[in-house]
Amino acid sequence: MSDPISALINLQFSPAVPIPEHLVGEVQSKLAYVDEAIRSARIAPSGDQITLEIQEGAANRQDAIQEKVQRVVHSMVKGAFKPKIQVLEDHLDRPVIFDRDPMEELAARGEVSQEADGIFSLGPMLTRLIAYFEGHFEHLAATFEAVPYRFPTLIPARYLERVNYFRSFPHSLTFVTHLREDLDAIDHFALHAACDEHGLNVPAESFSRIKTLLSPAVCYHLYFTLADSTLQSGSLAATAVGNCFRYESSNLASLERLWNFTMREVIFVGSKDYVLENREIARQRMMPVLEELGLAYRVESATDPFFVGEFRKQAAFQSAFQLKFEIRARLPFKDSTLAVGSYNYHQDFFGRHLNIQLPDGSPAHTGCVAFGLERMAFAFLAQYGLDSENWPSSVRQAVNG
Ligand code: 5GP
Ligand code: ZN
Repeated sequence: MSDPISALINLQFSPAVPIPEHLVGEVQSKLAYVDEAIRSARIAPSGDQITLEIQEGAANRQDAIQEKVQRVVHSMVKGAFKPKIQVLEDHLDRPVIFDRDPMEELAARGEVSQEADGIFSLGPMLTRLIAYFEGHFEHLAATFEAVPYRFPTLIPARYLERVNYFRSFPHSLTFVTHLREDLDAIDHFALHAACDEHGLNVPAESFSRIKTLLSPAVCYHLYFTLADSTLQSGSLAATAVGNCFRYESSNLASLERLWNFTMREVIFVGSKDYVLENREIARQRMMPVLEELGLAYRVESATDPFFVGEFRKQAAFQSAFQLKFEIRARLPFKDSTLAVGSYNYHQDFFGRHLNIQLPDGSPAHTGCVAFGLERMAFAFLAQYGLDSENWPSSVRQAVNG
């Protein structure tokens, strides 16, 4: 990304069209991808002013950068309408006792150790807390008799291509390569590879063409195992936990937004009714769990963070058909909420694109319930702090043994 040592200059201007309040966060998060010289981007909550911090070295490209920003604004905002947010559960005002950002204390106690932007190791307390949450999620999966799977961390490019991932989320992809099978390239690497502030100093030609990426989601792997076949049983409930990767540029911050995070999913494949019914049952079964955790949260309709060109159309579609609901936990220290899980329905999208058939020959419908494990822990600690004496008793007992 950007050069960490160069000086920064501020660039302030108005968007070509005013950005409605409900799109401010969504547009702002995309500005990080507009130009490598952008170190931070902020849009005023009123949507009428954009402030960029750019590297001084790019001062002579200000106009070009501004033009690219306006392209993003135009594409995402023009003709967009405000989606009706449907709130299914509202426990945002559940009393919690903590109001600070837990990151500093987590770092001081050695509970988080940052390896790079968006890449963290977690210590014993966070690991135990996540194991406790996992126990609940595994129990949820067991109530559906969901069968367990283990999926790889890598995912073939041709699979992601088949499900249009490149069009929808190009900005968040993480590519995998290796040295070409070439003695000269490998020898050269062994002798000269070194890291500078820009990364590895290795010529691009040393690397193979990209056939593989790091996986952005868990449930895709299940759909790929079912591709080009008929689901003889007519329905399937499965569960898996896995590493997921979404590159978030300068939006990467604390455990809230990680490049590498872990997701537990319960996945449903079958008829439309089967998937929708089970998604709803899963939501109902999570209510007492979230109550036991004492979590202040809300479940509301949401859309995925589609990239600029696809954003308006796809977000409107998801919203109109209520395809996604998020569990959004309160972050008292910043007076905002964070998605810690989601209830998703993909209609027959994967069934059609991957040719997964039901016994009657129609394409299968799919849906998943997904929990972000690091975010669950982060939101819990943001509400209850690090001292376990202050935690709800069931959590304290489970984690302290
Ligand atoms: P979704 O498939 O709904 O985008 O993601 C499911 C869950 O994974 C989210 O509700 C969230 O808890 C977690 N998640 C998604 N993106 C990130 C991220 O960038 N960082 C972290 N820590 N968790 C994420
Ligand atoms: Zn999923």
